[in-house]
Amino acid sequence: MSKIVKLKCLCGTVRGTLKIVRKSSFHVHCLCCDCQSFASHLNNKKKILDKHGGSELFQTYPAFMTITDGLNKIACVQLKEKGLYRWHTTCCNMPVANTMNSSKVPFIGVSVKFMELAGEKEKLEVLGPVAVKAFGKYAIGKVPQDVHIKFPLSFLPKIFSFMLKGLFNKKGSPSPFFKDGQPIAKPTIL
Ligand SMILES: [Zn+2]
Ligand SMILES: [Zn+2]
Repeated sequence: MSKIVKLKCLCGTVRGTLKIVRKSSFHVHCLCCDCQSFASHLNNKKKILDKHGGSELFQTYPAFMTITDGLNKIACVQLKEKGLYRWHTTCCNMPVANTMNSSKVPFIGVSVKFMELAGEKEKLEVLGPVAVKAFGKYAIGKVPQDVHIKFPLSFLPKIFSFMLKGLFNKKGSPSPFFKDGQPIAKPTIL
């Protein structure tokens, strides 16, 4: 079963769609220092992060996502060389998604803030519950109780089979962020 979620940045310039396939996705909550640095770089921590410095991502296959409007308002940064490509809007400085630095890897982590969801209830219905809350060691303030301190190793086999399934079914492309194997915007290394 799948469902289409509309994607929209804060100011409405960048828009798109995401096909939600529960068996081909993970709803995650990340408190890592890299996601926090990304939010600082965008100078938009208040709108992006929760009070513990966390943000939610929906990890799935690139072929499930499209950008229909405002493609020219999307830019890309890397926190370090060979790091993830972190795509964001330049109109309202909001995160869009993360990808690997190669178009060949069938993985995309879409920012939940980029989705048009009416509230927590709709979010839960559409995306399902958070499968893993990770990197609590970077939490701001008291570490919330349900968070893993690092990334739980027990979760890795699930990611491995997700990647294999994606490669086998060629779900890495088309990707909204790569054209002919090249990123649509030149990544800036911070
Ligand atoms: Zn993170
Ligand atoms: Zn915008």
